This record gives sequence, structure tokens and C-alpha cells, in this order.
Amino acid sequence: MTNPSTGHAASNTIDTASRPPLTIRLCGPRGFCAGVDRAIQIVVLALKKYGAPIYVRHEIVHNRYVVRGLQERGAVFVEELDEIPAEHQNQPVIFSAHGVPKSVPADARDRNLFFLDATCPLVSKVHKQAMRHRKLGRHVILIGHAGHPEVVGTMGQLLAGDVSLIETEEEAETYHPDDPDNLGFVTQTTLSVEDTAGIIKALRRRFPALSAPAAESICYATTNRQEAVKAAAPGCDLFLVVGAPNSSNSKRLVEVASRAGAREALLVQRKSEIPWEQIDIERLHILGLSAGASAPEIIVDEIIEAFGERFSVTVELAETAVESENFPVMRDLRDVALTASDMAFVNGRKPAAVAAGQPAAKKPAMPVSEC
Ligand code: SF4
Repeated sequence: MTNPSTGHAASNTIDTASRPPLTIRLCGPRGFCAGVDRAIQIVVLALKKYGAPIYVRHEIVHNRYVVRGLQERGAVFVEELDEIPAEHQNQPVIFSAHGVPKSVPADARDRNLFFLDATCPLVSKVHKQAMRHRKLGRHVILIGHAGHPEVVGTMGQLLAGDVSLIETEEEAETYHPDDPDNLGFVTQTTLSVEDTAGIIKALRRRFPALSAPAAESICYATTNRQEAVKAAAPGCDLFLVVGAPNSSNSKRLVEVASRAGAREALLVQRKSEIPWEQIDIERLHILGLSAGASAPEIIVDEIIEAFGERFSVTVELAETAVESENFPVMRDLRDVALTASDMAFVNGRKPAAVAAGQPAAKKPAMPVSEC
């Protein structure tokens, strides 16, 4: 068996002849999006430019493997700015890709901290859309999940009384605003496309004057990964999504796989979490595989290799879109060179095109209906 991402042969622990056949439908796009890639690059480049320690407020992206890799290079993760020791106040602090409430940069300025904001540009765009609604006198409805850092950050662009959070269609049905004719909505970037459409439909029916944001809030990466999973999942005996339990977009991919027809869909962070004891080898013929936007490709590789040790694997790329988005880092860091080896801890040792987050299929992309 050959891994289509690495081109490496998987190690054989079982006699080839005794391994049952398995087709892996590998979704494309999967894994890192441009916003996650940029956020990790910012930490890596800041470490190169300013030296350790570099402080990062909250997990830079929701992935423990990535966080650990950056910790090993000298990043220190804190939840609040007051955790940065006085002797390191001159070192930069980086805000995570999820975005922060306005109070956080204000607090950093009060403390004379040098901060680099790694908020994804598409999250910043949602902040601007929410503020625009408010500027036009509308009460803002944010569709999203309570407590998620992106939601905390978006709500924190506005005064508490100017924004209401709606999480479900049921909440949309029972929401009672003070001024029903003066409402505007935005959404979290990583929601389920289908669930969000249901919530918006309910709100529009109840509040016909509801204003939409100027552009779709759910980001291209969320939409593309869900589309690929939706196309690949029908007929899969098992669908694995590589991602963290606190990664919103990864959890949505599991839901999409289940709804689209995978017999079972699970979230796994590493190959060590593959529930081999639950897997009925006799009934596993087609495995769907994708990765959330914060999950490194190197873990997709290790999962494929783990199956290659137990099955005779054929990998088919189920590609529904090709992404070319690339978000440059801020000017402060553009004078530092980023090499492939700087990012090898997440991308593996691959050509530059793959380091940018695109799948490196050894097989040509095939229509999903064929796989
Ligand atoms: S999932 Fe979307 S909004 Fe979030 S970091 Fe990636 S591109 Fe940005």
C-alpha cells in the first residue's frame, strides 16, 4: 500500500496475503485552511524573529498536536494576558486564529504589550459585518455556539445589549427581540451549512426585514470540507474525521458524514484513538477519511499508515474542490523567511505545494461517484 500524501510505503506487520482489502475515500479538500496555516506560520516566524518565549493567548488553533509542536519550539500558551510574567512583558503575545473581543487588544495596549493578531481574515470580516449592522442601527443576531472562542470574540466587538446569540432552530422560533423590524445577522464561520440554513430560514420567516451580512459568514474552508465529506460519505462503512473535540469545524464534519450516509462516523485526534476493538474487520470495506481545518496532514498520513498495517489499502481521492487561498502574514513578520522545514512538524517533508495545504494525491482525482 502506498500513502497518497507521503508516497511512502506503509509498514507491513501482517502477512500481505492475509490482509483484507480496504478502500479509503480520502476527501479533498481536507485539513489546514489558509487561516490556520497563517496562524501557525505567525507563531513559527515570531519565534524565529524574536526568540523564545513567544506567548500565545489561547490555543493558536484547536489542535493539541500543533500546540505541542509549537510549545517544543518555545511558544507558551496562556488563557489571559495577566499570566505573562513581568520579566517577559517585552516578548510578543499572539492572539489566536479564532479572534478576540475588542477588550483584549485594549488590555494589551494598557499593559504595554507587543501583540500580533493571528485572527483569521475571514473571522475579522465577520467582526466588520457585525459592526456594520450595528452602525446602521440594527440589533445583531449572531448564529453560533455559546462559549466557542470565535463567538466570544465576535460578541466582544459589540456592547452586550447590542447582540443576541442564537444556537438552534428552536431558539430562532422562540426569540423575541425588542425591535423585530431592525435586525441583522452574522454567523460563526465554522457552522454546519445545513443547520445554519434552517436557522436563517426560521428567522427570515418570523422577521421578514432581517438583514443579511454583505457576504456569507460561513467560510470557504468549512463549506468545501463539508461538501467533500457529503460527497464521499454515502456507502462508507466507517468515516473518520481527524480533529480535536473542541474543533467546531471538525465536529461538524462528523455530523455531515453521518447524515450523508456513513454507517458510523467518528472524530479521532491521532491513530492511537482509532477504536480497533470496535471495528468489525469483516464489514469494513470502505473507509471515509477527512480532517478538520485545524488538523495537520501528518496525522492523516499516520492514520492511513495505521490502516495499511491491517488491511490491503487502496486510496481513492474524493475531491470536490481545489483551494488556492493563501493569507499572508502581517508586515512585522514578512522579513523572516519561512522554510519547508519550519513547517515540517505539521506538513511532513513535502514539496511546497503540499505544505500550502493541498492534498498530494499520487492518483489522479476521480469523480466522487466512482469511489
Ligand atoms: S476555518 Fe475558515 S474562518 Fe476558520 S481559520 Fe480557517 S479559513 Fe479562517
